[in-house]
Amino acid sequence: MNTDQRQLISIVVPAFNEEAVLPKFHQTVAGVIAELPFDFEIVYINDGSSDNTLGVIKELRESDKQVTLIDLSRNFGKEIALSAGLQKAAGDAVVVIDADLQDPPELIPELISEWQNGYDVVYAQRTHRKGESLLKRTTAHFFYRIIQRISKIEIPEDTGDFRILSRRAVNALNTFDEQHRFMKGLFAWIGYRQKAVHYQRDPRHAGETKWNYWRLWNFALDGITSFTIAPLKISTYLGLLTAAGAFAYGIYMVIDTLIYGNPVPGYPSLIVIVLILGGVQLVAIGILGEYLGRIFNETKRRPLYLINEYLPSPEASGRQAADASTSQPG
Ligand code: UDP
Ligand code: MG
Repeated sequence: MNTDQRQLISIVVPAFNEEAVLPKFHQTVAGVIAELPFDFEIVYINDGSSDNTLGVIKELRESDKQVTLIDLSRNFGKEIALSAGLQKAAGDAVVVIDADLQDPPELIPELISEWQNGYDVVYAQRTHRKGESLLKRTTAHFFYRIIQRISKIEIPEDTGDFRILSRRAVNALNTFDEQHRFMKGLFAWIGYRQKAVHYQRDPRHAGETKWNYWRLWNFALDGITSFTIAPLKISTYLGLLTAAGAFAYGIYMVIDTLIYGNPVPGYPSLIVIVLILGGVQLVAIGILGEYLGRIFNETKRRPLYLINEYLPSPEASGRQAADASTSQPG
C-alpha cells in the first residue's frame, strides 16, 4: 500500500427488503463518515430482497463512489449475507451494521477510535431496548444466560452484530467455512483484544423485523448446537437417571410381589413408565437429530452463498483485502 494513501474502512450492511429505510440509512452514514480522516467503502449486500432494495442500492451507487454492491442469488439469511460482505470487504477495518438504523451510525467514529487504540473487536453494547416486546426481551435474556452457562464461549449480552473488526479479525472469520454460522458466537470465538462501547438501542426506523419467533428459535438452536455439545450430555445423563430409577423400581416390584403377592394389576404404573421412557427417548433422539442434521449440512460442503452481481466501489477497487486469495469462491 502506498504510504500517503489514507486507511480504508469498509462498512458492511446486509439488507433484506429494506427499501423503505435504505436512503435514510445511507444519508445518515454518509453524513457521519464525511468528516472522518479515512477512505470509506459502504458494502451493501442485497440478500435476495423481494422489494426494490436492489434498485435503491444501485441508485445510491450512481451518486456515491463509496458504495459497493453484492447482490446475492437469493435470500441466504443475515448471517450468510454478513459473511459475504466480510469476504469482499477490502478495508483495513470493517464495521458491521444493520440497515434499519437500530444500530446508530453516530457510534461509528467511537468504534473507529477504539480500533485505532489497538482493539481487534470493538462491539456496541445496548443499555436499553425501546420498542421491543417484553417477551422478546426476556427470551433474549434467557438465551444469553443459557448459552453462557453451557458453552465455554463468552458471548456478551445485549450485543448485536454492530461492531468494528480489525483486518486480522476479519481474516480469521474468513477462514471459517461452516454453514451454520452463529456470528455472535464466532465474533467471540476468535478472541484477540475485544472491547465494548455502550449505546441506547432505538426502535426500527422503518420496515419490519424479519425475525419471527420461529426464526429466533432456530437461531438459538444454531447458536447452542454450534458452540456446545452440552445438550447431548444432558440427554445421556437423563437417560442414565431414568434407567437407574426404572431398575430400582423393578427390584422393588419383585420383592414387593414376593412378599405381598400382587393384588392389583400394575396397569397405571406400567403406562406411566412407558410414556415417560418414550418421551425421554424421543427428546434424546430429537437432540441427536439437531446435531446430525447440522453435520449432514456441513458434509455437503456447498458454497456458503452465490453472488448474482458484484459491483465494487470505485473508491475501494484496486485495494483488495490482503487475504483475497484465501477467501472462498462465491
Ligand atoms: N437481514 C438480511 N437477511 C435476512 C434477514 C435480515 O440481510 O434474511 C438484514 C436486515 O436487512 C437488517 C439486519 O439483517 O439489516 C437485521 O435484520 P432485522 O432488523 O430484521 O433483525 P433484528 O434487528 O430484529 O434483529
Ligand atoms: Mg433490526
